[in-house]
Amino acid sequence: MLKLSNNGNVQAPSLVDATNLILQFASRLHSIDDVEVVINEVFDGVQQLYPTSRVNLYMSQDYELTHKDVKLLSMQDERNHWCKTAFIEGNTVSYTWGNGQTSIAAPLKGKQAVYGVLEVSLTSHDAQKDADTMTMLSNFAGTAFENAKLFEQSNELIKELIIINDILKKLNENNDEEEIYDFAYNELLRVFNADYCCIIDVKNINNMNIRAANFDDNMEDLFTLDRGYLNIVYNTKEAMIISDYSSASLTHSTFMEKMQAESFMAAPIIAQSKVIGVMMLADKRKNFFTYGNYKFFQVITSHFGMAIINASLLAEIQRMVITDNLTNLYERHYFDEQVQQMQLEHYSGGLIVLDIDYFKKINDTYGHQTGDDILKQVSSIIQSSIRETDIAARWGGEEIAIYLPDVNLKQAYQVAERIRSKVMEETTPSVTVSCGVAHWNHTDDVKNAQTLFYNADMALYKAKQAGRNQIRVG
Ligand code: GH3
Ligand code: MG
Ligand code: MG
Repeated sequence: MLKLSNNGNVQAPSLVDATNLILQFASRLHSIDDVEVVINEVFDGVQQLYPTSRVNLYMSQDYELTHKDVKLLSMQDERNHWCKTAFIEGNTVSYTWGNGQTSIAAPLKGKQAVYGVLEVSLTSHDAQKDADTMTMLSNFAGTAFENAKLFEQSNELIKELIIINDILKKLNENNDEEEIYDFAYNELLRVFNADYCCIIDVKNINNMNIRAANFDDNMEDLFTLDRGYLNIVYNTKEAMIISDYSSASLTHSTFMEKMQAESFMAAPIIAQSKVIGVMMLADKRKNFFTYGNYKFFQVITSHFGMAIINASLLAEIQRMVITDNLTNLYERHYFDEQVQQMQLEHYSGGLIVLDIDYFKKINDTYGHQTGDDILKQVSSIIQSSIRETDIAARWGGEEIAIYLPDVNLKQAYQVAERIRSKVMEETTPSVTVSCGVAHWNHTDDVKNAQTLFYNADMALYKAKQAGRNQIRVG
């Protein structure tokens, strides 16, 4: 199709040839839905039309430079100002050099925007005709580029919607705070494929907790709220993104340095306009997160944030339902349930029932307020005298019950004795307590909870009868 002139040089195509080439070009572009393939076709198309020309494709910043021959359109660079003009005005611009060469800059234009500029430099015999040809070609290219881009975007959007849908389904099935942290952490790593993920729970400025992370390098040193990126997110209450830490960050980050990370994204979890947590992702590669990633990250983290807030509210309500708010010990109904449960799961256990001696007198002498305070003091002594697996509850007014799973009678007695002597020594104003201790094990004929409570209660009665400030066994 290309013709050689008498002296052997390649000639520009005739009008008919050029029209044919462009029609072929347009029909090839018509069915392409991949941006990279469109760009390849654009280079090929120009090469076929003008085999000896130099071709440049400059794209605006919205296009991520993944194609090796595509350059970024610089608005600062004055050397090819005709390209800038073509981009801004959306029209083809020609520039003729001193040596007779012509540069034609044609905008890559779609219905919604101008995406870049196609520049061809050649020895032109009819600059107007070549400019028209390039305009036609770049218009087809612009439309094809736009279509492919929209197609990619809608695919991306569908993928994101599927991810969000899956995440929401799982979050709806789960009320457990710990599990949600875990799920959020795993999903963030999976979806964004970054090197590092970390979720921090911020109770207040002095109390923060790393709830999930895939590194354990002295984490308390890495994150503090008073400096670095965590400080920025905590204060601005906004998400942030860094693409190039070592050369572009204004803020020093111990975390980024230690992890040798370059890319970073973080988003706050906000409840009642307070930052109660921060989710972070980081990667060693520069420019790892795209702007699209960043937008999507904000959407995902807002869902995780809401789920975490709901779960922690629910946990707090559940805690309140089973906790006595004066003493911070459990409520009786919860205690009863737990004791019954533990009697099914263990082979033995001890029950201590404790009552403050002459408590009426304390109230009468010092007032109810002091009475309440004594109750709190006694409760906190009890709490610090038992194991994690033991359970203490406010049983009645100033009566407290303690259940100790898997202990023998002697051990239960020792715990009661420890509490009795500590109460006597550590309360102000000083009070004493009397205790009744009961015990069961799997060989007993009767091992139900009622019998156990009855036995402990009778023992307490005996301790009171015998003069108080002592322990009796039922
Ligand atoms: P003892 O047990 O040694 O026989 O004498 P006591 O004076 O402690 O007698 P009892 O156990 O029968 O009295 C319990 C008193 O505890 C009655 C009530 O005024 C007081 N009390 C119960 N609950 C509370 C409370 O929540 N706060 C305060 N300040 N007092 C309480
Ligand atoms: Mg009493
Ligand atoms: Mg009492």
